[in-house]
Amino acid sequence: MSSKRPPFTMDGWNKDWIIHGHKLVCRSCGAGQCPAVDEQPFRHTPTCEISNAGARYPWRELNDILKEGLADARRMLH
Ligand SMILES: [Zn+2]
Repeated sequence: MSSKRPPFTMDGWNKDWIIHGHKLVCRSCGAGQCPAVDEQPFRHTPTCEISNAGARYPWRELNDILKEGLADARRMLH
């Protein structure tokens, strides 16, 4: 069943964000965030389209996606 999946997929995440050096960067406005502040919502530029969708925590989203991917890989081993 897929009901426990996070609302984000790797493909969807890649559409909005990109890792640039040690920062996570918004593809739409180019704002960046360091992993050290992953507890704070991402700060876009005022005109960014993605920011209209509400506060996002892209580091946390990425973490959830990767965790789900690991769980999938483990399931396939059994
Ligand atoms: Zn943005």
